[in-house]
Amino acid sequence: MSSKSGSDNYPENVEIAVVGAGLVGSLAAIYMAKRGFEVDVFERRPDMRNEEIEAGRSINLNISCRGIEALKRVGIQENIMREVIPMKGRMMHSREGTLTYQPYGKDDSEFGNSISRAGLNKLLMSEAEATGKVRFHFNVKAIFADFENNIVVFEQGSTKEKISVRSKLVIGSDGSASAIRNAMSVLDDFSCDIEPLNYGYKELIIPATASGDFQIDKNVLHIWPRGNYMLIALPNFDGSFTCTLFMPYEGNISFETLTEKPAVESFFKEHFADLVSLIPNIADVYFANPTGHMDTVRCFPWNVGGRSLLIGDSSHGVVPFFGQGMNCGFEDLTIFDQCIEEHLQAGARLDSLDAEDDWRLLFEDFGSRRKPNCDSIAQMAQENFVEMRDKVADPKFLLAKAVEKILEKKFPGAYISRYSLVTFSNVPYKTAQEAGIICDEILLDLCSGLQSAEDVDLERAEILITSKLAPVLQKEPALSSK
Ligand SMILES: Cc1cc2nc3c(=O)[nH]c(=O)nc-3n(C[C@H](O)[C@H](O)[C@H](O)COP(=O)(O)OP(=O)(O)OC[C@H]3O[C@@H](n4cnc5c(N)ncnc54)[C@H](O)[C@@H]3O)c2cc1C
Repeated sequence: MSSKSGSDNYPENVEIAVVGAGLVGSLAAIYMAKRGFEVDVFERRPDMRNEEIEAGRSINLNISCRGIEALKRVGIQENIMREVIPMKGRMMHSREGTLTYQPYGKDDSEFGNSISRAGLNKLLMSEAEATGKVRFHFNVKAIFADFENNIVVFEQGSTKEKISVRSKLVIGSDGSASAIRNAMSVLDDFSCDIEPLNYGYKELIIPATASGDFQIDKNVLHIWPRGNYMLIALPNFDGSFTCTLFMPYEGNISFETLTEKPAVESFFKEHFADLVSLIPNIADVYFANPTGHMDTVRCFPWNVGGRSLLIGDSSHGVVPFFGQGMNCGFEDLTIFDQCIEEHLQAGARLDSLDAEDDWRLLFEDFGSRRKPNCDSIAQMAQENFVEMRDKVADPKFLLAKAVEKILEKKFPGAYISRYSLVTFSNVPYKTAQEAGIICDEILLDLCSGLQSAEDVDLERAEILITSKLAPVLQKEPALSSK
């Protein structure tokens, strides 16, 4: 490959090269800058602070405990949390337009937060620059990485000029289709599995009213569960909602069958009648927006020696149904920083990037602590898809959820649902997964023959919680359900 070293605009040698200025890459830059390092971030897209560009993927996201914790650790949560809309629970819309509300947490202190992806990304970039140690380089796409010499080759967007950048450390935060991960795939001992979901997604906007108000309740996540497909809506600051339709690519009701305007119009009229009145020209909106795809990415190891590390979706992309992909990527940084702290206390030389072996040991420790948890959230996210699109309309499921709410209130801190553990606590995802399996067993037992949630046998519940759930949760001293 012919490549040119450096250019007038792009540096030739840097201390840390972060590839990808998305959510995780921008936050990673802040973390490394706060540790005293000089950071250069290379991003394929233009600077979204100056140009109107698609933020890529979903327009808004749900940021919860793990994400907020990572922002807190570097002191930027206040600035960012000003930009959120709280969502207290789910509002299910039936085909007939009947609404059923399900709170997210045990009380009003537990809620989700809708935030604009682009808004968050811009804030993170500006916070990174404010450290005085981070520089962003836009319109450069990583196309190759030589891990022997720690050189990443980029292609400039308009000129197609090749630019080689040598660094002491490469952080690959270039998302689920990562070029840095692809370059690792030729290395011995590197394994990678990319599991595509046979569903795509399409975004639609419910506009604000003429006076800028929300057309439907703004403090909930709206769900239209329809069995094999579903639609959700999260509020935006300007009074609109971003809806996401998740649907199979193929089959009776699928993206392949909805290619003509009349078919799309009758599809929405039949299955989402209340939405048709909220989105004018719904079929035009449908065709104007692209269909996105979703993968689960599992790979390992996440590092090449002490010189290169994958982080965020590049190492563990998950499907979006637990609202955890970004939260998990942000939590990577909390755990990574904790690992740095512990290794420093044990005498590792991490104040400079020259002690390659010490950085290798750090990366290996980080990867082995984090990987089982990322595998757990990947699986829980796949399971939650079935729950959201299908089970939330099932009376038996709704009864179990109502019983669960009673248990959370009657036994606070002793009965904690899987959803709460994942969303409102920082316990490792793996513990949340194990506890969730036990919660399901407890609910199955208590709901057997039960007609009404209020009649649940609380004495039996206490016995089951103490004997089955407590041993799993007590293993977790850091448990702090918020
Ligand atoms: C529909 C949908 C809804 C979601 N909802 C939620 C939610 O509610 N809550 C949540 O926590 N997560 C959610 N997620 C997941 C979340 O979007 C991701 O986990 C998160 O964006 C990962 O951040 P990242 O920085 O690792 O990757 P990305 O956000 O993908 O960022 C990667 C960056 O790298 C750049 N890049 C890519 N390739 C190159 C290259 N070769 N060279 C240079 N730059 C490159 C990209 O342009 C981008 O800026 C959702 C995802 C989807 C698809």
